[in-house]
Amino acid sequence: MKKTRAKEIYTLDDLRQWHEVDPPIRLGVIGDPVAHSLSPQMQNVALNQCKIDMQYSRFQISPAELSDALQLMRELGFVGLNLTVPHKIAALAYLDEIDQNARRAGATNTIKINDGKLSGFNTDGKGFSRAIREEFAVDLRDLRVMVLGAGGAARAIALQCAREDCERLVLANRTLEKATKMADELRDFFVGPRVLGPVARLQAIPWEESAFRFQIANVDLVVNATPLGLNRADPSPIPARLLAPHLMVYDTIYVSGQTPLVSAAIEAGARGANGLSMLLHQGALAFEIWFGREAPVGVMRSALTR
Ligand code: NDP
Repeated sequence: MKKTRAKEIYTLDDLRQWHEVDPPIRLGVIGDPVAHSLSPQMQNVALNQCKIDMQYSRFQISPAELSDALQLMRELGFVGLNLTVPHKIAALAYLDEIDQNARRAGATNTIKINDGKLSGFNTDGKGFSRAIREEFAVDLRDLRVMVLGAGGAARAIALQCAREDCERLVLANRTLEKATKMADELRDFFVGPRVLGPVARLQAIPWEESAFRFQIANVDLVVNATPLGLNRADPSPIPARLLAPHLMVYDTIYVSGQTPLVSAAIEAGARGANGLSMLLHQGALAFEIWFGREAPVGVMRSALTR
């Protein structure tokens, strides 16, 4: 096969007429859009550091193309993939195996391909947990958490909070039914003996300022798991006037510097962090699944913050 330079972004047509490059592309992130993904810069330094002779690239694949793309990647000998918006839920249908965590989260962000078999995992939840410990030096177990959103990221985060037996979990979503359904699915984690007084340990709430105001007084950590904040014109997911000094605010949106929500939190005297640390840790956990060895987290972090 003819050798060429790696492209910034590959498409389904590229997979159909595959040209090998050196080192060969055997890993990648599939999304729509995908141009913004920082995963290649983080994973390629990890591959380089571990002397693994492969490259990681971006793949612009629409929902209608996902099935064909996965089949071609299997045939081309890919070893690992990440999935981003909007594929995390849809990809489950094309897997040969789904680990318990991804099954329960109802979403997969990591695929390992071994002997042509596609196995799905979800590292978002554990990556989030590590990020919270790193950013705020606390464990989810000790926190009352409010998660904003009920999509793929929110589901993985809420499940992780439940698994780690957080003190309290409040789920808020624009479409309340989705938050209520999520709470129902997590109810078996919250039958324990913790006593919290007048507020419920697990609760779904409407996307309304009065509901946020009441809950803010009864939570420690607020997590934005909606895309609000990705665009400059977006309203804040939670009105800045509600933010209070006792809060930790984690915005899963990753940018270099602060997101508007994190800036507002800091201005209110609270602590805040953006999603780069979650991106780092979910990526490091994916690397460990693909290669069965510890990821070089230090160089991956430097690559992200460069
Ligand atoms: P999904 O599309 O699955 O879910 C989006 C969620 O946001 C839904 O609950 C949706 O509500 C809500 N939402 C969307 N638009 C609005 C709006 N205008 N107002 C209020 N709520 C809104 O996306 P994901 O869960 O996959 O991703 C969400 C975000 O999480 C991404 O933008 C990304 O930045 C971040 N993320 C970060 C990661 C990291 O490593 N740091 C990893 C994964 C995700 P509804 O149900 O009503 O539609």
